[in-house]
Amino acid sequence: MDFSLSPENIAYRDAVRAIIEANVTPEVIDRMHTTGTFASPELNRALGREGYLERAVPGMGKGDPIELWILFHELEKAGAPYDGLAVAIMIAGVVHAVGTDEQKARIIPSITSGESMVGMGYSEADFGSDVASIKTRAVRDGDEWVINGAKMWTTMAHEADWIILLTRTDPDLPKHKGLTMFIMAADTPGISVDAVHTMGTERTNATYYDDVRVGDDAVLGGVNEGWRTMTVALAFERGVMGGSNAAVPLLRHFHDWAAPTGVLDGPVARERMARAVIDETVAQLLTQRSAWIAASGGLPGLEGSMTKVFATEAYQRISGWFSQLAGPAGLLQFHEPGAAGEGFVEYDARHVPVVTIYGGTSEINRNNIAERHLRLPKARR
Ligand SMILES: Cc1cc2nc3c(=O)[nH]c(=O)nc-3n(C[C@H](O)[C@H](O)[C@H](O)COP(=O)(O)OP(=O)(O)OC[C@H]3O[C@@H](n4cnc5c(N)ncnc54)[C@H](O)[C@@H]3O)c2cc1C
Repeated sequence: MDFSLSPENIAYRDAVRAIIEANVTPEVIDRMHTTGTFASPELNRALGREGYLERAVPGMGKGDPIELWILFHELEKAGAPYDGLAVAIMIAGVVHAVGTDEQKARIIPSITSGESMVGMGYSEADFGSDVASIKTRAVRDGDEWVINGAKMWTTMAHEADWIILLTRTDPDLPKHKGLTMFIMAADTPGISVDAVHTMGTERTNATYYDDVRVGDDAVLGGVNEGWRTMTVALAFERGVMGGSNAAVPLLRHFHDWAAPTGVLDGPVARERMARAVIDETVAQLLTQRSAWIAASGGLPGLEGSMTKVFATEAYQRISGWFSQLAGPAGLLQFHEPGAAGEGFVEYDARHVPVVTIYGGTSEINRNNIAERHLRLPKARR
């Protein structure tokens, strides 16, 4: 595949870049690192106003397929707080793929205008990789569903307007078959949110569902079809909406600190810088392929797993190298005098452990590649 950008793509990229430059100020980046909320409503709205979010929703066919990659690559390179936006666009893509016409009309414009964000409630305290075993129940009561249970790691729930929620609707069916996905307003009575602050700065949440009542209009993708909806959501989550060139801003910050301090003069440092650039280039090509497939109406289930495993493990390697090269200066945090890479070396070292966990661990993605691509026997039931 040739991913060279056309003149139209370059004009789109420059326009996105200008919006990022105008909205991602040092104050916005500081706010992201002090609150742990990786989202900027102002940036989302500015992109939404220009129609750039609608063009990025997977499968909607509004923009050139490569624009999905351009948008998130620019956000990632700039170190912008874009996780909330990525989740929202991803779920807009899921609603587009499996939602009813009424849901598409009600939910997608609220996301593509940049107004609404979404929290994803799949994982529970005891079920992350084995998400098909979740216990949160949705029980039919007349015309309504009554939902009870608890979710863990519901990132963005504290800022979200919508919650997408995986529930068990038929406990008598095999575990993958008795699941139903719902999408509901985040302020539906009975939903509560507790903050969970992580070592890597990011804030996520524990969420609770206590006799939450919703109608059939909240069922996303059909009753007992939750696994199919989940498959679409995971295909868009891995290696498509950013997260796969996360070392690029680190590379820039590290270089700008290491070059004048002489750290880059040694052969080991030069070799590692070169390796980092090569790894990030490979990660970029893999991401372009996954994003292009998603934006063209496909499901990059396998390609996304390949991208996520390579890109997140490369980011971990690169962060480790830069920490070693920086020495004690790599332990200093933002705003501390002498901090390597303005504090990003320290921040990234704390952040990298999580990237091979969320969105499906490296082991789970390797299983996916082994089973679907290499046709090896299943490692689990
Ligand atoms: C910061 C953060 C944000 C998150 N955001 C969200 C969110 O917004 N929404 C959401 O629903 N979830 C979210 N998650 C949850 C995330 O998806 C899970 O943490 C992840 O899927 C792993 O599940 P687990 O934590 O239960 O670990 P476990 O599944 O218990 O895994 C523990 C270890 O066992 C390994 N393992 C498990 N099963 C297998 C297997 N079959 N084969 C080989 N190895 C295996 C895993 O790879 C891992 O190393 C988030 C997590 C974090 C840390």
